[in-house]
Amino acid sequence: MSALLEVSDLNAFYGSSQALFGVSLSVAEGQAVALMGRNGMGKTTTIACLMRMLPSTGVIRFGGTDLTRVPSHRAARLGIGLVPEGRRVFAPLSVRENLVAAAKSGPWDQSKVVGLFPRLGERLNQSARTLSGGEQQMLVIGRALMTNPRLLILDEATEGLAPVVRQEIWQAIHCLKDDGQSILIVDKSVRELSTIADQCVILERGRDVWHGGPDALTNDLTNKYLGV
Ligand code: ATP
Repeated sequence: MSALLEVSDLNAFYGSSQALFGVSLSVAEGQAVALMGRNGMGKTTTIACLMRMLPSTGVIRFGGTDLTRVPSHRAARLGIGLVPEGRRVFAPLSVRENLVAAAKSGPWDQSKVVGLFPRLGERLNQSARTLSGGEQQMLVIGRALMTNPRLLILDEATEGLAPVVRQEIWQAIHCLKDDGQSILIVDKSVRELSTIADQCVILERGRDVWHGGPDALTNDLTNKYLGV
């Protein structure tokens, strides 16, 4: 499998404060990679670097392009779809408008998104602000899919949702994986991540301290680095 995303020796800074120290990771085509670590260890910062929202040094190659040489507005267009922390829908717009605003040509269109999340199909004309938290999260994922991303990044997509809704979102993520979607995913549930990830990377204080398959993620490791 060829690498879609290859990150090496990534250093990131908030002003003069360094947040990432030489992080490396890669995502092959069709793979799901879990980025793990306790709060504040650098997961969202890593994602911000990939989206070119934060200054960094090191190498970020995506589909053969060196992203560090590409301005942020073009980086998104190269095919990274982000589901950011915090469920940011365009609240005044309808569900349909939220989806259409993001659309780029490819296999993902409104009907395919509605196939994945039927609840959105029942609410296409409602404004996004009237949706439940779970439905808003489905909309944010749907919107990212409408960009037909080569890589989908999910940052805490199930955070703060009721267990039954969380389960629906995990089922959808499994469908995406089965469909061949390349995914980089951050989530608090080690159990769920282990069922979907081909590879896991653990961050500890801005450093990648462990890489391996979910089968190799022992209780000792999860106790030490993830506090579970
Ligand atoms: P969480 O699960 O809490 O989101 P995380 O692993 O995503 O954790 P980051 O948000 O990437 O962690 O934070 C990594 C480090 O960078 C932390 O020490 C954090 O305090 C710091 N940091 C994050 N955002 C900023 C910011 N805007 N300005 C300064 N420091 C920041």
